[in-house]
Amino acid sequence: MGEEAKRYAVVTGANKGIGFGICKKLASTGGVVVVLTARDEKRGLEAIERLKKEFGLSDDSLLFHQLDVTDPPSVASLAAFVKTRFGKLDILVNNAGVPGGVVNGENVLRRLSTSPRIVNVSSAMGVLKHIPNEWARGLFEDIDNLTNQKLGDVLREFLKDYKKGSLESKNWPIVVSGYTMSKAALNAYTRMLAKKFPNFRVNCVCPGFVKTDLNENTGFMSIDEGAESPVRLALLPDDSPSGQFYSVDEIIPF
Ligand code: NAP
Repeated sequence: MGEEAKRYAVVTGANKGIGFGICKKLASTGGVVVVLTARDEKRGLEAIERLKKEFGLSDDSLLFHQLDVTDPPSVASLAAFVKTRFGKLDILVNNAGVPGGVVNGENVLRRLSTSPRIVNVSSAMGVLKHIPNEWARGLFEDIDNLTNQKLGDVLREFLKDYKKGSLESKNWPIVVSGYTMSKAALNAYTRMLAKKFPNFRVNCVCPGFVKTDLNENTGFMSIDEGAESPVRLALLPDDSPSGQFYSVDEIIPF
């Protein structure tokens, strides 16, 4: 296959868990070159070695680059690497996340936004019915008028109330509140991007309840099963829906 026919993909937070499974599956797809990224270089390189040894993947389909999605110089370095090495990016899977709050790389997106497929790994916990705060819900719902500034306003207000210990009185989610709010913001951001870039396929997906460190391995799906729906969205054909929320394979309301 000629270089120009290849598709280039970046997966964030991929040294373990669902991101690792996504890299394995995407890199096994003919014609896709995957950049497995991790914030810790040693953990990332170990993941690459494992994928090569255990699953027979090669340098032709799998590379490593360091990326901490909260660190702008690290993001800039990855963007420069992709630009120099490939000249384009076809698939971005925003997968990185932590239980206390999710760091799905808006910064990555901003730098690499030539990608026509963006998959934001989200959670059904972030759907609007779980956000009791009417003001925040109203802004998130009003996609036609939503801006980065408004998204930031909601998250800043939430954080202020979180620090003051007034989540309940201010009608914020009180169970896994940081995770829920960050996923709700990510969902709204997904819809905003899909509207702004109609030629992109930008979707978010809840991969199911997957056995990973995030939930102390209490999930009931394997990592391979959890990787299936994000990979399907990463490989969507051009005429597919954009701006949707998938719960595994089913489109559900935001
Ligand atoms: P996981 O096994 O804990 O993996 C999370 C990954 O994110 C790790 O590689 C972690 O790196 C990375 N990460 C955290 N902070 C980062 C940062 N600042 N920069 C770059 N990478 C960072 O969890 P998982 O279950 O696979 O989660 C993956 C995604 O799926 C998350 O967005 C999560 O919210 C979503 N999700 C999971 C489930 C589930 O049932 N597991 C359900 C719904 C949604 P380190 O190893 O360095 O910490």
